[in-house]
Parts: sequence; structure tokens; C-alpha cells
Amino acid sequence: MPRERRPVPLTTTQRMLVYALLTELAPTNSALARQAEAALAVSNCDCGCPSVDIVTDSRGSTSTSIADVDLVAHDPTRLLYAVLSVRNGCLTELDCVSQGAEAFFSPRLADVSGWAFTTEIVDEPTNQ
Ligand SMILES: [Zn+2]
Repeated sequence: MPRERRPVPLTTTQRMLVYALLTELAPTNSALARQAEAALAVSNCDCGCPSVDIVTDSRGSTSTSIADVDLVAHDPTRLLYAVLSVRNGCLTELDCVSQGAEAFFSPRLADVSGWAFTTEIVDEPTNQ
């Protein structure tokens, strides 16, 4: 169900994750960098992790040089995943996934040093 929550600025951890993913996987994409700069967040998860829907003012700054992709980072143990979704040239979501009881995605994660980064092309539209 859609929630009626007002967009708020990204937290330090959310901003760090977005910038880390863009720096690693789309370093030359200035349109996405501009979107990240002005991005706001709407919480989409109640578990306490940093997952958010991303709200961008994309007028005039959508990226046409990138397909629909998920920018993915995972920690060395593969228990934590951060996924930044790009759809129609816009940042749309930061999804933070953890392996249940084995690990919790801290909302105050400080950095992603040692993490591995991959880009996954998305072929079909998703209904998230
Ligand atoms: Zn969560």
C-alpha cells in the first residue's frame, strides 16, 4: 500500500550508500550525480534498515546514457546487499537487504570499504 509520508533528506548512511554506488558503477554519469545531490527519501520499510524510495526532481537532468539498471553492492560475507535502482534515467529506490537473523543492515553503517560492486541490467519493468 502506498504510504503518505513526506519526503525527507537522506540520512548520512543513505547518502553514503548512494554516492558509493554511483562512484563505483556510474562515475561519469553527471545526471545521476545531480539527482543524488538533490534527492529526498520516503521510508518504505519499517524494519529499521536504510531502505527508502528516492524522490528526485529530474526535470532536465534525467540520464539517457544509462539503461534500467540496479547498482548493487554486497559486503564480503554476502550477508548485506545495497541496491540502487535506476529507472527511466532516474534514481528510484535504495533497497537494503540483509540475511534475516544472521545480519542486520545498520541504519548507521559508516562505510562500504571492502564491499564488491556489480551492475545488473533490468530487462523488464518491475512493480515495486
Ligand atoms: Zn528494512
